[in-house]
Amino acid sequence: MRKVDIINLGCSKNLVDSENLMTQLRSQGVTVRIDPERVQADLLLINTCGFIGDAKEESINTILQAIEARRSGRVREIRVMGCLVERHGYELQENIPEITHWYGVNDESKILADLGLKLNPEILNQRIHSTPGHYAYLKVSEGCDRNCSFCAIPMIRGKHHSKSIGELTAEASWLAAQGVKELILIAQDLTYYGLDIERKQLLPELVKQLEQIEGIEWIRLHYAYPAKFPMELLKVMRNSEKVCSYLDIPLQHIADPVLKAMNRGINSAETRKLIEKIRKEVPGVALRTTFLVGFPGERDEDFKQLLGFMSDYRFERVGAFAYSHEEGTLAGETLTDSIPDKVKQQRLKELMELQEDISLKFNKGLVGRTIPVIIDREEGGMIIGRTPYDSPEVDQEVMIGKNGREFVGGTIHPIIITDATEYDLYGSPIINAG
Ligand code: SF4
Repeated sequence: MRKVDIINLGCSKNLVDSENLMTQLRSQGVTVRIDPERVQADLLLINTCGFIGDAKEESINTILQAIEARRSGRVREIRVMGCLVERHGYELQENIPEITHWYGVNDESKILADLGLKLNPEILNQRIHSTPGHYAYLKVSEGCDRNCSFCAIPMIRGKHHSKSIGELTAEASWLAAQGVKELILIAQDLTYYGLDIERKQLLPELVKQLEQIEGIEWIRLHYAYPAKFPMELLKVMRNSEKVCSYLDIPLQHIADPVLKAMNRGINSAETRKLIEKIRKEVPGVALRTTFLVGFPGERDEDFKQLLGFMSDYRFERVGAFAYSHEEGTLAGETLTDSIPDKVKQQRLKELMELQEDISLKFNKGLVGRTIPVIIDREEGGMIIGRTPYDSPEVDQEVMIGKNGREFVGGTIHPIIITDATEYDLYGSPIINAG
């Protein structure tokens, strides 16, 4: 198996797993590609997602398409790994006999052994990242100790365990040496970091250490949890030159009965107080959050309260999902999926329409301002970049006219914002800026 293609499905945490595997394989002379345009390899490894219905369906469709690709001779062998296998391994083996090798989420050594290779412990902090050279994800922990009633992740990824600060600064230094400028911290639950190793939240300390790494210019924080939020982090964010004025903090809902049934460990009043505190302590911060609509028992008035909360607290970036009734979760086992799908979709649509207005007003407020923009790529004669308020893949971009200038990926330039739409910005480089 000298040529391996990996198809990575799901979240950035899965991508880091695929990158770790690619690093091990390459170090032992195997040619590896992640998400190639066209699969063509001796072995195709599919890293699946098993979080919710739609994601599971996408994973299964990808497996079935791969079996087609094998029939046409583009791949010799297919092996499947990741969250879907961890969750539904037995059913998959029974129903898709064409696949002979199935691996869960912690089976890296086994995948390598089945290829006659060995895990090389010396390169565990020397990951080859597959994202554009100037940014990379840093997964600070695995698993989750929370018990949100709608969520299957704890049963897939297990209990929370943090990587040590030493391991993470070594990995980040390695990434910086590879040219990474923007480090995106991810986890199932970022703010829980350190509680399992030192019985205290170590995220503020970790961020302070990562800031010291030469070459890293931007540090971005994703997947903060609202309950028992480490307030010291806000001071670190406010005083930092490198931490982007950006925080991803999924809230899921605001109505007390729904938050209670979701087992989120925080109520409406505490949530509002936290958001007010974050905005006060970190002026100008862009908040990204995620909402879940259609949870069992969500009344019209609960949903209206959520819309009211969004109008009052005006999150700069919002992702939203319709509730998916997942077996094995607390809600999946004890509640009825009572909200008709038509109503779920209608609420999702209404929520995102409201967010479109909020996002447009926020973006219009940026017109005329000069903002640092990191350059991601060139496309159709335009330079595409992102502000500190925008994370790759999930948030918006800035389209910049070249004006005869060359821009290097990963460089950061002051850009004057000239126009804005709901989800995009347009800008021009400052003429005399270096
Ligand atoms: S914090 Fe809640 S939603 Fe997030 S991974 Fe853990 S259980 Fe799931």
